[in-house]
Amino acid sequence: MRAVLLGPPGAGKGTQAVRLVEQYNVPQISTGDIFRRNIKEGTELGKKAQEYMNAGQLVPDELVVDLVKDRLMQDDCKNGYLLDGFPRTIYQAVGYDTLIERLTGRRVCKACGAGYHIKNMPPKVEGVCDKCGSELEQRKDDTKETAVNRISVYEESTAPLIDYYTGTGALRNFNAEKDPDELLKEIVAELGA
Ligand code: AMP
Repeated sequence: MRAVLLGPPGAGKGTQAVRLVEQYNVPQISTGDIFRRNIKEGTELGKKAQEYMNAGQLVPDELVVDLVKDRLMQDDCKNGYLLDGFPRTIYQAVGYDTLIERLTGRRVCKACGAGYHIKNMPPKVEGVCDKCGSELEQRKDDTKETAVNRISVYEESTAPLIDYYTGTGALRNFNAEKDPDELLKEIVAELGA
């Protein structure tokens, strides 16, 4: 179960949250609680959040989204979670959806292995490979259940390679948000013909 509790202060979100996490056996992720804990422990995050909280303002979006991403990558979120107090702005909602969608929208061709994305790079005919006409499938590990966990594995085991290759001088950085054909040109320009 993955759900967001949305409602004005005092609507009874907390009351339902307690019941829902018990019913579904998933953690309750309250950004307010996480901030309060960080303030108590005197962490950097707590220091940054405190002034906003004291003024009754929202903590800046980037800070909140990063915090939630980190939290969702922890092991106990593998089978779901209940978000309480997040997202609170459109920016936060989009940040959260993008994280999940990028991974769960991928499709591959059963026959030739060509890759697609249902939103960013859809095939001409839904579910059918442009290149060979075979059926597209979702990789078994591209479901929501495993997406969050795979990001955590990446962070832990693979992201350190960025430092490693920076050290050897072999690293080149590219912006993967670009149009794929544009990006290809940049990569080819960097690699040489
Ligand atoms: P809450 O306990 O959910 O009412 O949150 C208490 C305070 O923490 C809020 O008034 C905000 O200052 C901050 N906060 C909690 N969640 C968020 C969020 N998703 N975005 C921005 N600020 C938040």
